Amino acid sequence: MLENLKIGILGGGQLGGMLIRHAIDFGLNISVLDKDANAPCARYTSSFSCGAPTSYEAVLEFGKDLDVITIEMEAVNIDALRELEKQGKKVFPAPDTIQVIQDKFTQKQFLLSHNIPVVPGEAVEGKNDLHKYEHKLPGCLKKRRNGYDGYGVMVLKTSADIDTAFDEPCVLEELVDIKHELSVIVARNEHGAVKCYDPVKMVFSGEKFVLDFQEAPAQLEEGILKEATVLAEKIADALKLVGILAVEMFVTKDNKLLVNELAPRPHNSGHHTIEASTTSQYEQLLRAILGLPLGDTSLHFPSLMMNILETDALNSNRQEKVQQLLDIDGAHLHWYGKKGNRLGRKVGHITITGSTMESIVVKAETIRKILN
Ligand code: ADP
Repeated sequence: MLENLKIGILGGGQLGGMLIRHAIDFGLNISVLDKDANAPCARYTSSFSCGAPTSYEAVLEFGKDLDVITIEMEAVNIDALRELEKQGKKVFPAPDTIQVIQDKFTQKQFLLSHNIPVVPGEAVEGKNDLHKYEHKLPGCLKKRRNGYDGYGVMVLKTSADIDTAFDEPCVLEELVDIKHELSVIVARNEHGAVKCYDPVKMVFSGEKFVLDFQEAPAQLEEGILKEATVLAEKIADALKLVGILAVEMFVTKDNKLLVNELAPRPHNSGHHTIEASTTSQYEQLLRAILGLPLGDTSLHFPSLMMNILETDALNSNRQEKVQQLLDIDGAHLHWYGKKGNRLGRKVGHITITGSTMESIVVKAETIRKILN
């Protein structure tokens, strides 16, 4: 049964690590492909292959003895996944789904073609092309591919900023007057069953476009939360998704919902589901891609999730800070075990659970002081 299935994950970062943790509960065999021999997953499975998920040859070789292949990152080789499908392997999410989402412009066009509200934007080839759109500034410029954690996002206030803009294919979006940011994680299986988690409110650090913290459930008006859930379900159906999908959305100042971006894989807006929900997003992904019944997505209690970013302050005294964090009741530490150093990268996260959001917010303040 489950123990005979060979599952492969393209990408070996922290999301893959948490997926392995839940695959263990199902007794599954997990193999991982990552270009970095020191990726977090390398130590969690004896079946770790070092190779680029973007390489046709590496993905084909990796998949040849597997039954089901999934992803924890979008930057993967689509042609190799299509070839593996032809060979009879199951690939979820489908290569077509990954391909449409890999590129922020084709993703936007897909959503528009299904009447999903998105942030209006133009495709630009590079810096020179931007001059055509000077009249549209200020705007938000995003790399079409491979952006993550805000690294591929910049604001262009005036035409003077074009000199320092990304010089590669991008999308120039309208600068949205954002009131709130939400994410809904939705799961869908081959039989078309769909389940959503409660919307999560994400709070970003203004300057770097990187997530600061997020609250589940989002403490917003019922109507907008319901609307967000309906949109996420509609997108999962439109994509004929098999797997899980995070739908990131903006609530504008005039209370309109706009889809910002999609991620067809486990997502940081679902980290809290490990401790706070009946079924974690990782288990849900496994259920969805293995044709198992989708699990209950109910939240047991409120939670707040904070990323731990590498800083000089953290590096100066990691051991003592970890001790202090673990001394806080209801603070669940996830340390990713990343090798090497790079200021600003995510090295872990903490999910705080408790009986009320008020008590959790107080603990979050204590944690912020410890980390800084
Ligand atoms: P990434 O793929 O790197 O996470 P996103 O497209 O999600 O990039 O953007 C990161 C953050 O930048 C968003 O969560 C939001 O805070 C801000 N942002 C993105 N697009 C816009 C926009 N059009 N207008 C205003 N802010 C934006």
